[in-house]
Amino acid sequence: MTAHVIDGKTIASNLRHQLALDVDAFIRDTGFQPGLATILVGADPASEVYVANKRKAAASVGIVDVHRRLPHDGTEAVVASTIDELAADPAVSGILLQLPLPSGLDASALIDRIPVSKDVDGLTTLSAGLLARGEPGLRPCTPQGVIALLDAAQVSLEGAEAVVVGRSQLVGTPLARLLTERNATVTIAHSRTGDLDSVTRRADVVVAAAGVAGLLTAHGVKPGAVVIDVGIHRTPTGLVGDVVFDDVATVASAITPVPGGVGPMTIAMLLRNTLSAAARVTARPLNAAP
Ligand code: NAD
Repeated sequence: MTAHVIDGKTIASNLRHQLALDVDAFIRDTGFQPGLATILVGADPASEVYVANKRKAAASVGIVDVHRRLPHDGTEAVVASTIDELAADPAVSGILLQLPLPSGLDASALIDRIPVSKDVDGLTTLSAGLLARGEPGLRPCTPQGVIALLDAAQVSLEGAEAVVVGRSQLVGTPLARLLTERNATVTIAHSRTGDLDSVTRRADVVVAAAGVAGLLTAHGVKPGAVVIDVGIHRTPTGLVGDVVFDDVATVASAITPVPGGVGPMTIAMLLRNTLSAAARVTARPLNAAP
């Protein structure tokens, strides 16, 4: 079998095109232009690239780009007051604090300063609680991107066996919850899982999000399974994922490449969250008690 390659770049580009139309319609309807605020603390080279891409993507769909750059030795109080300033600014629909933060800053406490209504990364304790309870809220971008990729590839999740490799708060844990909401039967594998291959081999859908290059081979994949690779690793010859692509493509029915799979979807979901956050705020006066 040679797997169908799920083209995340094209799917994300189509989504962004639709989002540009949606933002345009939203501005016409409400007179309000959504704004995305990014905060970058320090000058980590990978974070610089990620933030630049997010800002460019926001502007490209008509979202106002608001940016705050803080020095590497910026104190927790300075980062906190920047978040508070953006939280109070009605022109800012969503706030993204780029991670990782320089050592010495308490990332969890700072993330939790972001109001849940502007939490476009979906990483605050409140957003995680809403997701855990199945209540409406802004969901983390990469897990949403995985679901959107599966939908675009018309993979049926209802009753499917899904295995998520990785249990981080950023990817694995929220993704398992989103897959459960879609009525998949979900197993979470992690660093202490014994015989990982035998666990992943049960799955109709495998999502590799362990951050270990070359972790998933054909030996761990049931013939005909769908394989989504979230991992990103820089190597001298370019980016690779957690999945040995050429090997797994011989047994899977569909597979995402790295690059060009999940990565582009993450930014598309961030933009969608920003529009959703703006829509909730502008709707609020309509719902407000007299
Ligand atoms: P993390 O380090 O926070 O979590 C990794 C998880 O994998 C842990 O829960 C751990 O238990 C599990 N794990 C580690 N080694 C394992 C092993 N040998 N077998 C089974 N499970 C194992 O990482 P993260 O933030 O969740 O990111 C995971 C990967 O996804 C990284 O490569 C990261 O760069 C990538 N990522 C990509 C995107 C994207 O947009 N494509 C977004 C976020 C993260």
